[in-house]
Amino acid sequence: MDISRRGFIKITGAGAACLGLSELGLDLGPARAVAAELKIEGAKEVVSICHFCSCGCNIIMSVKDGRMVAAEGDPDFPVSEGALCAKGAAFRSMHYNEHRLQKPLYRAPGSDRWEEKEWDFVLDRIARRIKDTRDRDFIVQNGKGEQVNRVESIFELGASQLDNEECALTHQMVTGLGIVHMDHQARV
Ligand code: SF4
Repeated sequence: MDISRRGFIKITGAGAACLGLSELGLDLGPARAVAAELKIEGAKEVVSICHFCSCGCNIIMSVKDGRMVAAEGDPDFPVSEGALCAKGAAFRSMHYNEHRLQKPLYRAPGSDRWEEKEWDFVLDRIARRIKDTRDRDFIVQNGKGEQVNRVESIFELGASQLDNEECALTHQMVTGLGIVHMDHQARV
């Protein structure tokens, strides 16, 4: 029989527990009632990847009613074998934590305080700053007279919340602008 490590643990764990307790004459009814109230009861398991560092550990997310209710390591993932570090273990709370910022914060030049702004405001401002900097610093030829078409005064840093496809799009955008200095926090 072809069975995954996770499936094996589930089958053998559940089988051993039921057999042992039944043999002792214990009533499993209350335990089953508690199990039915577990937050992952009836949830759909979705396997994804933790993007907080380049290890890229698998994470099994339990999703119920369109909302992640739990996240745990994947025993079938060969690198971490089901383990998660503190960042991966906090995966769910990273998404739903009440302290997470919901709006962009902006600090005006010379100001000592942050202001909440709408996305339209900050996106327009970022676009304006990139355009002005690129227009000012665009290098057509290097010192040897070779055509380079690049901008050296803008640095792009990708956040770990970006998935692979978003990283690919971001890379295409910045290279299209001639930006040559870039890096990404996770590098998955
Ligand atoms: S941050 Fe931790 S859980 Fe996430 S990929 Fe890296 S080692 Fe794995």
